[in-house]
Amino acid sequence: MGLKLILISFLSSLIMNITVLLGAETIFVWLKRTAHNPWIQHYRHAILVVVGTAFVLLIHLEAWSNTNVSQNLVGLHWTFFNVELLVAFDLLLMVASKWQLLSTMLLSLGWFKVVFVHFNRLSLGLMGLLLVLEVAMWYCRRPICQHIWFRWPLFYGMAAVTFTMTHLSHGDQTIGAWVRQWLALIILRTITDLYLELLRRQVKRAQLTKLSAEQDALTGVLNFGTFNHALQAKFQQYQATQQAYALYALDIDRFKRVNDTYGHVAGNEVLQQVAKALAVAMQQTAHTMTLYRTGGEEFVIIADCLASQPDFKQVLQTIQTATRQLTFSFSADLIITLSLGESEVFATDLNYLEVYKRADQSLYDSKHSGRDLITVQGALL
Ligand code: GH3
Ligand code: MG
Ligand code: MG
Repeated sequence: MGLKLILISFLSSLIMNITVLLGAETIFVWLKRTAHNPWIQHYRHAILVVVGTAFVLLIHLEAWSNTNVSQNLVGLHWTFFNVELLVAFDLLLMVASKWQLLSTMLLSLGWFKVVFVHFNRLSLGLMGLLLVLEVAMWYCRRPICQHIWFRWPLFYGMAAVTFTMTHLSHGDQTIGAWVRQWLALIILRTITDLYLELLRRQVKRAQLTKLSAEQDALTGVLNFGTFNHALQAKFQQYQATQQAYALYALDIDRFKRVNDTYGHVAGNEVLQQVAKALAVAMQQTAHTMTLYRTGGEEFVIIADCLASQPDFKQVLQTIQTATRQLTFSFSADLIITLSLGESEVFATDLNYLEVYKRADQSLYDSKHSGRDLITVQGALL
């Protein structure tokens, strides 16, 4: 074979491999990450195992048929073997399901059975080593995924084992062909890792954008838009399951005075500390609660703690008094108090906003009764 022909064959196969491989990796990453399809969310691991296994089998079929048509070299058309290795390795690290490990081990055993015509001790030993490597990699996938200095030696180690096994089975591969095999593998691995890193950064950026759209920039607490969606979802869930919930509307007392006396920067510090204190107080209770900043110095909590529960009063008091102990850098004697209004969803509610209106009305009752107070469904606590 002329050098020119070898070069053309090498490059065209390599480009074809890169295209197929990056396409497959895109599908795997999408299946692993997508949060929009409930069906995929529910069966994510099973789908990944099935799609990944089908892909490796397809590539293997392609390799096997190519080899048999061309009666050529190492028993598996060389370029496709690289793709199989890469996908098997990446899926093993990507899919946290024992079925993935089982699938990879079965594929390896199947490959061993197809490729090896004559078994001997060495080939059996190497097969055992390959299986042990696969089990170890799957169990240690977290640290391996995070560090390229674990990933690369393991990947190339696995490749070395399988290449040696292939050599034992089909010793007719020339040195030049082995050089091309390794060179292509290194290029494929490097390009795939760069591409996966690119995808990872894209996912991170999308997560950050989503977070900044959901959060309030000053306090880091979820914002009004998120509250509106959450309250709608809660109401729908209540209609379907009768799972009741409460709303606690909170407002800082006489906050304008803080701004007027100490300035808006100081006011911002108060808002940040109040948000933190509320989050801590919520954690102290044994209930599920989510905090939202719905306006300037107004917060709302969606909670599963209802008036019928024995610790209800204590929970409300813990939250309402959470800010009283706060100390501020700009003033030693400023005490921040909150007014609170509570209401719960009713079976007669026509839409999701009715509970919000009642909690808000209760909050205003607390304000009009003198502030620093709690009103539960229209009655002072
Ligand atoms: P009340 O006890 O009746 O609630 O009185 P208040 O002073 O707390 O309420 P009012 O509605 O009169 O004033 C709220 C103030 O909150 C007015 C506005 O300037 C201030 N505010 C709203 N958002 C922010 C913010 O992000 N930072 C700062 N520093 N102030 C804010
Ligand atoms: Mg206020
Ligand atoms: Mg207000």
